[in-house]
Amino acid sequence: MSTFSYTLSARDGAARTGVISTPRGEIRTPAFMPVGTAATVKAMMPASVRETGADILLGNTYHLMLRPGAERIARLGGLHKFMDWERPILTDSGGFQVMSLAGLRKLTEEGVTFKSHIDGSKHELTPERSMEIQALLGSDIVMCFDECPALPAERSAIEASMKLSMRWAQRSRDAFGDRPGHALFGIQQGGLDEELRGQSAEALRSIGFDGYAVGGLAVGEGQEAMFGALDFAPGQLPEDKPRYLMGVGKPDDIVGAVKRGIDMMDCVLPSRSGRTGQVFTRRGVVNIKNARHMDDPRPLDEACSCPACRNYSRAYLHHVFRSQEIISSMLLTWHNLHYYQDLMAEMRAAIAIGDFAGFEARFHAEREKGDLEPV
Ligand SMILES: [Zn+2]
Repeated sequence: MSTFSYTLSARDGAARTGVISTPRGEIRTPAFMPVGTAATVKAMMPASVRETGADILLGNTYHLMLRPGAERIARLGGLHKFMDWERPILTDSGGFQVMSLAGLRKLTEEGVTFKSHIDGSKHELTPERSMEIQALLGSDIVMCFDECPALPAERSAIEASMKLSMRWAQRSRDAFGDRPGHALFGIQQGGLDEELRGQSAEALRSIGFDGYAVGGLAVGEGQEAMFGALDFAPGQLPEDKPRYLMGVGKPDDIVGAVKRGIDMMDCVLPSRSGRTGQVFTRRGVVNIKNARHMDDPRPLDEACSCPACRNYSRAYLHHVFRSQEIISSMLLTWHNLHYYQDLMAEMRAAIAIGDFAGFEARFHAEREKGDLEPV
């Protein structure tokens, strides 16, 4: 069985491009991972997700453990078979969503007990149980179980939380064991504090992981503060391993993160926005529900080759959105995911030829033009 590896092929400033190799296929970096929360990327067939250019999906431990249950998915052959996605899957640890979704949480040194947001049933997540669930799912990239405080928080609270997460990182490593071809990523914490982030990075390095996530950002601190932390956080992590920024983000967040040395990202934004009629284009965000699109025969984005842009007018997309037709969510989600993957491909190409600055200038110049003039 081949093992998990990362090959860095080019660097431009702090930005990097390379390939993560797994037994289930290669992941070109910088990579954007669409989110398949409940074993589906909503409104998309798996083959269509692949057609947008996605090399890897993200699955949510919290949602899958509650419904349909990790043991059930394992009995049915694992998450890849269950959802018909053969390529790599990364699963989160469940910790973040326990904090954001579950009711009546109780946090101890051992782990977290909580009540399901679905039916109020009681559950426990510990580093050991999170590793067990992610193994039952058959995840290719497993995330350490960690705790993430909401920002802003007192430095002492961020420090105590970070240290707990580092003890949980060691327990996650011990429980993960030796699983050739599967990777375990550590998660750096420490809020916006360079010294705490440095201590967290040191603790993770001494345990040793296959990749490292920058955790605890994109939790309400704003883009400027996030970029401030990304000016130092990725550089504190090992050079020769992939770096993953969790839960990011808008297109300009992604460009700014890649510029600062991030290799992997995930976000529900392109798929969720597709269902609410918000569309990402090279010229910024378009709201398809606006009446200005009613008679517009042009595609959403002239430069996009997705089915929504290739085969349909803005007028049609406006009509099916207003009529609440299911195809509206399908087409707009497809377009948004395609746009995100095009963005990643353009960045990979720019880094490879040492022109990230040129790419970044063109990216912002196009967006500043704003949407097409109405017809
Ligand atoms: Zn498109």
